[in-house]
Amino acid sequence: MEKILVSACLLGRRVRYDGGGFDPLQQLLAWQAQGRLVVVCPEVAGGLSTPRPPAEIPGGQGALVLNGERPVRTDQGEDVTQAFVRGAEQAVALVRQHGIRYALLKARSPSCGNVENYDGSFSGVRVSGEGVTAAALRQVGVRVFNEEQVAELAALL
Ligand code: SF4
Repeated sequence: MEKILVSACLLGRRVRYDGGGFDPLQQLLAWQAQGRLVVVCPEVAGGLSTPRPPAEIPGGQGALVLNGERPVRTDQGEDVTQAFVRGAEQAVALVRQHGIRYALLKARSPSCGNVENYDGSFSGVRVSGEGVTAAALRQVGVRVFNEEQVAELAALL
């Protein structure tokens, strides 16, 4: 059966930086019941605690973080790049372990966002971009969807 790597917070796990989760989606619960889901929170897997300060990537491009060209910083200016890169490595290890080709990750997260991201100014400005984990997964051939694209993913399974 085709498995899916999924952001832990989309299943209601309270792992977000602010200690929150998200309401479970009906389709996600069905996939969970089918045993399809491999759940990860890259930021927690990378060693960060919950709750934690919000973090953004200057320019919003996770691939540049993986290249060492951009940091990830909290709103207090702390450099949390290493934890974000470690989390991305853990996610890549999971997709390799389980032969995963699809991921359903939380939109607009500096780890998980797949289409757009915040610009690093902590002022709510969005830019085209992706999170560090989303970029790492794309680079190893995983197709990444977000919670607004569940129907697109469902059509592929
Ligand atoms: Fe963890 Fe990703 Fe959810 Fe952030 S968006 S809490 S990194 S699973």
